Amino acid sequence: MFTVFSLRNSVPLSPDESAAVFRVLDDYCRTPAGEWLRNFPFRRFNLRWCQSMTDSVMGAFLPAKPWTIYLMPADAGEESEPEPAAVSARLVEQSRLSWAQFMTVTVIHELRHAWQFRKCWWLYVLCSLPLLRAFTLERDAERIAREAEHIVEQTIAWHDGVAFQRRWRK
Ligand SMILES: [Zn+2]
Repeated sequence: MFTVFSLRNSVPLSPDESAAVFRVLDDYCRTPAGEWLRNFPFRRFNLRWCQSMTDSVMGAFLPAKPWTIYLMPADAGEESEPEPAAVSARLVEQSRLSWAQFMTVTVIHELRHAWQFRKCWWLYVLCSLPLLRAFTLERDAERIAREAEHIVEQTIAWHDGVAFQRRWRK
C-alpha cells in the first residue's frame, strides 16, 4: 500500500527529464489556462520519481516538503527487468522522456496543491480534512489538470513534430 512513508524511496528526475517537464510547463504558462502558474516559481521544485506509487496515486504534494513533487515512474511496481537487446538505447531514452512529458499533467495538478498551500496555508490545512478535501482542494486541482490536459497534449505533439523534422533533415 502507498503511504507517506513510501515517499522516502524516491529519486530525482534526471536533468533531461526535468528539462522536458519544464519545457511543457513553459508552454502551458503562455496559455490563458496557465496564467496562475506564470508568477509561481515552479522551477524551484524538486521533481522526484517514487517507485512505490501505483496507478491510483500518480503524484503527491506534502506541506511538510513544500518544494518537492513526487511522481509515479514509468516502471512503477515492476521488477526492473533488463531491456531486451533488440530495443535500442535511443528508443529507451525516447520513451523515458515521453513519460516525463506525459506526467506534466500530474505535475500541474500537484503544483496547484503547492499553490493552494502557499496562497493560504491554514485554509489548505483546514480543507485537507478528509470530507472537505474532495470538494475544495481536489475539485480545484482536478479542474486545473483537466484544462491542462489538452494543452499539454498539443504542446508535446508540437515539440515531437519539430524534433521529427529536425531528425528528418539530417
Ligand atoms: Zn490532488
